[in-house]
Amino acid sequence: MLKQTAEIIMKTAPVPVYIFVFLYGIVFGSFLNVCIYRLPKGESIVRVNSHCMTCGKKLHWYELIPIFSWLFLRGKCHGCRSRISAQYPLIEAATGLLFVFCLAVKGLTIDMLLCQALMCALLVLSVIDARTKEIPNGINIFIAVIGLIRAVINIISLIKNHENVLDIVLGPVVVSGVLMLILIISGGGAIGGGDVKLMAAAGLFLGLKGTVLALIIGCIAGSIIHIALMKIRHLGRQLAMGPYLSLGIAVTALWGSEITAWYLRLLTGA
Ligand SMILES: [Zn+2]
Repeated sequence: MLKQTAEIIMKTAPVPVYIFVFLYGIVFGSFLNVCIYRLPKGESIVRVNSHCMTCGKKLHWYELIPIFSWLFLRGKCHGCRSRISAQYPLIEAATGLLFVFCLAVKGLTIDMLLCQALMCALLVLSVIDARTKEIPNGINIFIAVIGLIRAVINIISLIKNHENVLDIVLGPVVVSGVLMLILIISGGGAIGGGDVKLMAAAGLFLGLKGTVLALIIGCIAGSIIHIALMKIRHLGRQLAMGPYLSLGIAVTALWGSEITAWYLRLLTGA
């Protein structure tokens, strides 16, 4: 089983390509750390001026190498010895791994690049939502833009094959429409406006069936994990849905068609 999986993965791309994709993944991860800290404060993410959060010492190039600098410096600032959050190397490693997943599933394609861009946005919004209970508008707009690009590519190929484009057209409106209704009825108690916008943007990317699947995965993961967290870490009942919806969207973007096909086989007993 493990050997078979390894063989399938190796068919998509040779090992050096995987290493290259992991390395550019961790470089992107280091930029995502900047986004995570600066977006909620409304600071520019383009201006590059990396410094220690405690003493303000400007960082040298060798202190800015993703993952390795943190390990080399043993998680402490070179100037003031204050602790540097483990979140930096963790986000960098997570981005590298997600990029590798995208390559393994999609191969070296435009869809791989779109999925990698989506993973970046989901990672940033998950951390920000977990911390501030807000999803920045800019991230949802970014997802909508890459979703629109994917929708246009998919629609063109469907029309070429004389297939129905309804699933893609309905993707951004149906699930988010229902969520919008829940938002209005519950007065914002059950779901946030940012979540509704996220599912509308994700709908462009995933189509209707995909968005329904993402919502189901998100709700199941959210209830299981949040109940566990309420028990273990005595978290309040207030739930940031962003990270769980993001998990559902990410899983669906990578394996959505396989999961849907498996479920339909289960239903029909084929
Ligand atoms: Zn310092």
